[in-house]
Amino acid sequence: MTLFRHSGRISWVLLAWFVMPPAASAMCIPSPDPAIRSIQSQVPKDAAKALTLIRAKLDAQSHETGAGSIAFLAGLYAVQAEAYEILELSAATRTAATEGLKLATEVHDPVHLQLLSAYAESAFGGAAIAAAITTIEAARLAQAPGSAAGTCLLITRGLLENREDRADLAIVTLTQAYRATLSSTQAEARMFAASVLSIVMRSMGDYPQALALNKQQIDWDVAHHAYLSLSVSHFMRGQILKLMGSYPDAVVEYFEARKLSVQLGDEQGVAYADQGICGAHVELDEFEAAQQECAGAMQIFSATHAEAAVKEVRALLARIDLRQGRPGAALVTLNGVLDQDGADLPPLHVPELFELRARANAAMHKYRNAYNDLHEYIERHAAANAAERYRQDGALRARFETDREIERNASLQRELALSREQSQRQAQQLRLNAIVVVVGVGVIALLIYFLVANFRYRQQLQKLASQDGLTGLPNRRRTAELALAAMQNARAARLPLAVAIIDMDHFKVINDRCGHAAGDHVLREFARAGGAALHDTDILGRWGGEEFLLVMPGATLEVAIANLERLRTLVFGIKLPASGAGLRVSVSAGVAPLESNVKSLDDLIARADSALYTAKNDGRDLVRVADPAYVTGAHAIRRVQRQ
Ligand code: GH3
Ligand code: MG
Ligand code: MG
Repeated sequence: MTLFRHSGRISWVLLAWFVMPPAASAMCIPSPDPAIRSIQSQVPKDAAKALTLIRAKLDAQSHETGAGSIAFLAGLYAVQAEAYEILELSAATRTAATEGLKLATEVHDPVHLQLLSAYAESAFGGAAIAAAITTIEAARLAQAPGSAAGTCLLITRGLLENREDRADLAIVTLTQAYRATLSSTQAEARMFAASVLSIVMRSMGDYPQALALNKQQIDWDVAHHAYLSLSVSHFMRGQILKLMGSYPDAVVEYFEARKLSVQLGDEQGVAYADQGICGAHVELDEFEAAQQECAGAMQIFSATHAEAAVKEVRALLARIDLRQGRPGAALVTLNGVLDQDGADLPPLHVPELFELRARANAAMHKYRNAYNDLHEYIERHAAANAAERYRQDGALRARFETDREIERNASLQRELALSREQSQRQAQQLRLNAIVVVVGVGVIALLIYFLVANFRYRQQLQKLASQDGLTGLPNRRRTAELALAAMQNARAARLPLAVAIIDMDHFKVINDRCGHAAGDHVLREFARAGGAALHDTDILGRWGGEEFLLVMPGATLEVAIANLERLRTLVFGIKLPASGAGLRVSVSAGVAPLESNVKSLDDLIARADSALYTAKNDGRDLVRVADPAYVTGAHAIRRVQRQ
């Protein structure tokens, strides 16, 4: 069973004045020895019984000298110091801690840290607390960052800071410790930090926060059957509620604390619960009940010589006396309480005691004393208020800084998440853009490819449409186009032009004897060699079958005849296969010059055709010129006759 370890360390006397937080627990750091841990768990239940057990073990162990037994001995001293501290025997606590520290010196040894904490927490008074903080901080810095021991030491530091009346520092330290426990599995340290924080918050007047933290502690205590701790937690809740003015609720909590204390046989706990109930009943004007409860508390406190507690209960009784019209009794009591002018009492409550006595004095017609008390009250109240305001200001500022830091972290996280999301979206957009660009480029490339392909295809189509497949020469349609353009140009430029029709002689015979392929070969050879032998400006086209049209821009009739003669002899070189032995390739040509009386291209071609007819008739392998007196109609008739 895990006990909430700080429970037993509550300094009851100081708590009653609700100025001081509970003492931190060295047991925030668990003992490494299971045997000692089991004793440790007994301490918050019954410290006196645990001490008897520890003393017996120490006696038995003192003769042993082995390394293991020295460690055990040190562990026993640590638990003993713990038990003494619960019983508020701070001198004994120091002695036990000092003995233990002689044996456990290693700065990472949990027992050493337990002893160090117990020693530090027994420090009261400015100089002692300052020294304790220095020692604890040095030990803390030697621990691994984020370690449980480090967190426990941080809580001890916060507790000492609060005891030093520096709530502003304590809240920063404790918040840091509390946050460190959240990110780890240090559940006990977390509860410990929460309980101390609750008290600091309460002292700062942040009651909702104090209540919330106290609730965490109560839940923990219930879950872990830590009844002593639970009684303290309920008592603390009662204190917060009383400060909030929720007196009936406070009474409920005090009763809960009292019930547990009775079960545990914890007389001091019962006394403090009674005192709390008494105080709440006074506020509720239930004086009869209050008197009984305060009397009960007084009996226990007197028996245990808890002087400060006795004085507080007496102050409550004086308050009852005054309210019930017994100012004389109240004055006597208050004179006793303020016998040292409040020097032995927690400063926060002293002004109220002077104010109370002022009223008692006034009721007793002791106006000079009443005036003195009132003056004292005003002075002390102002001083206490100023100090308190200063303290609360500092604490609130620290708190604000802490909250702001948390808020800043949270907003940083949000910003980080946002920018991460944004950059993810941007990356996605970029990827998308890249895809679009790639696809776009692809589409454009494809379009260009199609365009080019289409262009080539059209070119090819055009070529096919205008080119003769066998010879590669312009076909009849294209030849006519070119011839027409050339004729118009010649006319416009008043330049000579001649047109000839060239026809293969007895081509049927070549085909028949040598085969169609040989015939094709002859046609191709004529086109190739003929084309090569002509001027660049001359146009040689296939006019049909084994007929060719030759347009010779700029050529006079003489030049044209010379060209045709060259072609006529050129074809003799075209080879025929063996089957064509005895045969020879020859052509006949008819040529017509562009004369002024030529009506059209058709007319000009008809004239050349008629000359070709003459060449054929004259025996073939000849070039003939068109009759200057040529008449289209007559030629047409002749042509029909020839075919
Ligand atoms: P002529 O001397 O009177 O012109 O006699 P020809 O046999 O050459 O005249 P004709 O007009 O009677 O016959 C032409 C022949 O040319 C008929 C045809 O088979 C052949 N021919 C036409 N085109 C082609 C072709 O592309 N390839 C081949 N191998 N023969 C063709
Ligand atoms: Mg022919
Ligand atoms: Mg022919």
